[in-house]
Amino acid sequence: MSTATLTIDIDALIANWRALDRMTTVETAAVVKADAYGLGIAPVARALADAGVRQFFVAVAEEGLALRRAIGPGPAISVFSGHMPGDADMLNQASLTPMINSVDQLLTHVEALPGHAFGVQLDTGMNRLGMEPAEWSALRDIALAQNPTLILSHLACADTPDHPMNAHQLAVFSEMTAGVDAPRSLAATGGVLLGPEYHFDLTRPGVGLYGGLPFVDARPVVTLDVPVIQVRDVVAGESVGYANAFVAAAPLRVATVAAGYADGLIRAMGAGATFTHAGKKLPVLGRVSMDLITVDVTTLHDMPEHLQLIGAHQSVDTVAGFAGTIGYEILTSLGGRYDRVYHAD
Ligand SMILES: *Cc1c(COP(=O)(O)O)cnc(C)c1O
Repeated sequence: MSTATLTIDIDALIANWRALDRMTTVETAAVVKADAYGLGIAPVARALADAGVRQFFVAVAEEGLALRRAIGPGPAISVFSGHMPGDADMLNQASLTPMINSVDQLLTHVEALPGHAFGVQLDTGMNRLGMEPAEWSALRDIALAQNPTLILSHLACADTPDHPMNAHQLAVFSEMTAGVDAPRSLAATGGVLLGPEYHFDLTRPGVGLYGGLPFVDARPVVTLDVPVIQVRDVVAGESVGYANAFVAAAPLRVATVAAGYADGLIRAMGAGATFTHAGKKLPVLGRVSMDLITVDVTTLHDMPEHLQLIGAHQSVDTVAGFAGTIGYEILTSLGGRYDRVYHAD
């Protein structure tokens, strides 16, 4: 078999959820949008539900439907994009709760599904999703009279604790929701770490569950082992890979491993990236190809069957750094070709 193995440590996932939960005195939900950040929504959400998660969040109704099929009735499933045209049957069938973002969405919702639960998303300065203060003050009494399940907003700069935007959004959210009885939520992973005034009634971590920053104390969840297909010796002056991007200055051993940019190991990673074996760093040589990457294994005495890209020696965020991106993008780009293995003790 030449597909790479993506191992997902379910015990670490649960430990991360529990650790984030222990940092607050309020309920901790789980965000499982984008196929649980690329790790597989069904096994990830089932494990989280078994560990006690009662509320899940997804980005779009289609994800909510898939999630409902995976976890069955019971846990609440909220949809960040709200109620979009054509969603009514899905929302109804799968008992999904749209987080309403605008007057238009509220009208669509009460018309199509009168009496069906909804929450409200407020924009407190990010200018991405949610009702703005003027819109909300016009609608507030009507919306609150129908007992929304949740009033939420999202922080733009929570991964930068000192950023003044955090306190600003906290003040705006507090003002917009003053006197509201409905449960309130402002914090994702970054917001949990900002402290209790950001926690309100419910937190919504995503990336921290999967071992990513800004949760620095997260346990690593993902291991990516890529099979070595071929090994060759290269003499000084020979080139490796497309565009002759690497030229050997000295004799080298080159291993070709079976994953590439089609598997989410984005091409921008190229120079400066490393694989590891038993803790030893092994530089990537030349360009990342669609299905293959060439690695300098000159320092290895015996050739292992796999080289590791993500794992105990190199985090998702370290790999993201090779490509000038963030752990979120590496996780959610992890391709469909991997053999996903779920490990729990
Ligand atoms: C993605 C998302 C989250 C989870 O964010 P993390 O930074 O991954 O913890 C929470 N709330 C909203 C509105 C989101 O879009």
